[in-house]
Amino acid sequence: MNWGVKNIHKMFAVASLGFALTVAALPGRLAAETNHPSVKREAAASQFARAEELRELLNSKSPDQRSLSEYKKVVAGYQRVYMITPHATEVPDAVFAVAELNTEMGDHFGRSYYQTAADTYAYLIHDYPSSKHLQDAMLRLASLEKDQLGDLAASTKTYQDFQKKFPHSSHKREVQEALPAAREARLVKFTVVKEVAATFSPAPGCDRLRPGARSPIANLYLAGDWTATGWPATMEGAVRSGYLAAEAVLGGDGKAQTLLRDDLPAEGLSRRWPGKQSVVR
Ligand SMILES: Cc1cc2nc3c(=O)[nH]c(=O)nc-3n(C[C@H](O)[C@H](O)[C@H](O)COP(=O)(O)OP(=O)(O)OC[C@H]3O[C@@H](n4cnc5c(N)ncnc54)[C@H](O)[C@@H]3O)c2cc1C
Repeated sequence: MNWGVKNIHKMFAVASLGFALTVAALPGRLAAETNHPSVKREAAASQFARAEELRELLNSKSPDQRSLSEYKKVVAGYQRVYMITPHATEVPDAVFAVAELNTEMGDHFGRSYYQTAADTYAYLIHDYPSSKHLQDAMLRLASLEKDQLGDLAASTKTYQDFQKKFPHSSHKREVQEALPAAREARLVKFTVVKEVAATFSPAPGCDRLRPGARSPIANLYLAGDWTATGWPATMEGAVRSGYLAAEAVLGGDGKAQTLLRDDLPAEGLSRRWPGKQSVVR
């Protein structure tokens, strides 16, 4: 059982105790009647209907006009349903609504509500596994864990559990996209490669040794990061060498034109680089 489910259980236990004490304070026969499961289920159903009305009222306002206390009132309305009895038919719907509302509260009133939303979805998944909300609860929990709580490990696990439980779900693709194969890969062996050739050598005078695109042989043109591009031997240098070689070919054919692109404008500190010259011809 995870932390969130434990917490919700604790909260639920405290609330149920409060309910039990209230009932115990009633005269004997009335208390026995109030305690009857069918009475509790009816009370929970009426409470759920009241909570739905409160939510409808809240939803009639535009999101930026809804206050935190209004949200809390609706949440409390739904929570009361499962405080009356966790066995009422409406309980999974009420728990789902609490999770949804806490997610909205996270969007508007602070990220801490996202954690409550995640805990509530986890509680629903754990305690009401046959609920019609199970798929949605798992997907929403995984998405909260990934995007709002930044807990990739937890989100991967929730998505994987979803895949195992619902291999033919219509959300299969969505889950696969959220769970790239790399995340499922198991590292069996690794080696650190130190490649000295990865870094060019800016030895003084080495530019003099780099040939241009034209060669002394007719119809032989040179390209490559090692040629005279004005840039070090990097990918950018290699690209520039391609443009310069193409220019040389066209020039040799009497169709001279400029293909080499201008450098991107210097930004930040590099703007202060004295005498920055990018193109060498
Ligand atoms: C490990 C490593 C990391 C790097 N990291 C960076 C980086 O982060 N950023 C960066 O800007 N640069 C990096 N570089 C440098 C960059 O990769 C090179 O500057 C760039 O790829 C050079 O491009 P090129 O087209 O000139 O040559 P190459 O990419 O080497 O292409 C030459 C091609 O010619 C082929 N070839 C060779 N001989 C023959 C033959 N006889 N017949 C047919 N084909 C042949 C080769 O197989 C190769 O495919 C790195 C280099 C290495 C080795």
